[in-house]
Amino acid sequence: MKLKDFMLRRGSFILAGMLAAFLLALGGMYVLNLEITRRDKTDAYDGLLPAGEDTPPAYPLLPNGPVKNVILFIADGMGINQVTLTRLTYYGPDGRLHLERMPVTGLVNTHSANNLVTESAAGATAMASGFKTNNRMAGVTPDSIPRVSILEVMRDSGRATGMITTTDITDATPAAFAAHVPHRDDTLTIARQLLDARLNLLIGDAKDILLLLGGSTEENPEALRRLGEMGYAYIDSQEALDRSDAPYLIGHFKRMVTREYSSRIRSEDETASLADITRRSIELLSRNPQGFFLMVEEEGTDTGGHANLPRFVINRLKAFDDAVAEGIEFAMREKNTLVIVTSDHETGGLTFEEGEVPARDVEVDWATRLHTGQMVPLFAFGPHAARFSGVMDNTDIPKKIARIVGLAEFWKMPMAPKN
Ligand SMILES: [Zn+2]
Repeated sequence: MKLKDFMLRRGSFILAGMLAAFLLALGGMYVLNLEITRRDKTDAYDGLLPAGEDTPPAYPLLPNGPVKNVILFIADGMGINQVTLTRLTYYGPDGRLHLERMPVTGLVNTHSANNLVTESAAGATAMASGFKTNNRMAGVTPDSIPRVSILEVMRDSGRATGMITTTDITDATPAAFAAHVPHRDDTLTIARQLLDARLNLLIGDAKDILLLLGGSTEENPEALRRLGEMGYAYIDSQEALDRSDAPYLIGHFKRMVTREYSSRIRSEDETASLADITRRSIELLSRNPQGFFLMVEEEGTDTGGHANLPRFVINRLKAFDDAVAEGIEFAMREKNTLVIVTSDHETGGLTFEEGEVPARDVEVDWATRLHTGQMVPLFAFGPHAARFSGVMDNTDIPKKIARIVGLAEFWKMPMAPKN
């Protein structure tokens, strides 16, 4: 760094410090400035834990009774520092995100079959099927053999199933849970297989389903007619979701999509909140007396990491954490629901190097615009959650879930032939 730049930065620190001191004097406001050393700048945030307050308590460990429902939350690209910066931003250093208050924590190794650094298709395949596969393969092992997923065995046990994502429904993570393709880019085949999988609820950007059925990625009458024929209700808004009682539904929430690499994208631009969708989806799925399996994915945490946009990552992780809170609230009430929160890999090599108190300027740095191979955190709540303590492999996750809900060792079974 040049001396002049250094002096400028010193100057900005001092100014920011004075500003923060002024704000603290004003109202005890907690201010966090993210100073981006490499590629971007972002605004200050506030979050507040009044001085002298204890950190929020962890949610309790529940007794190990039978587990009926499983909710698996996946924040694509979420590493430890994404969690840390979101906490600092919204709750301050002594606060806690909802996911951080879950009583059991673990660390997950994420390498794929052919690379020490995974991508989402291989990462999700491991978490869905218990098998490592090569990067960019979804729901199959490297030999292209389809492997049963935890979602499919939960469905076949009579439970309701659903997936929610803030990207395309056919994107790698949902694909790996209910489709089986050697290449994640084969989105029309994935769309077909997702429809055939008969999930009760599939919500995200449904453009590939519209394209498959009606020839256009925009909403079109032919696609809607064919969805109706297949027994799927089609909805495109939170209001419609709140009204719907349909046993099978496809939700097309296209503005939830956060895949574009643009600093202009803000989480406020959404028309629907992941938390609202999650809450209503749990309501619908929990009507099944056998229980349910729900996978909820936040994609913006990966998108923002690729674009090296800390503000975007932090906003999306907060939105994700609010959705997690919905899952925890249900699980606290019902006492028979396992909630797991984790990630497929870290994105960006996010870190921070300076964090002056009380100025609280945080100097954020990124190692890359790609994924990294660092372990990712896992948080668990519900009966038997303690089995997720410690260091595990991503392939252990579906095996642990199956054992906890009392299902057979599905990863040892061949996939049932398609009729
Ligand atoms: Zn990615």
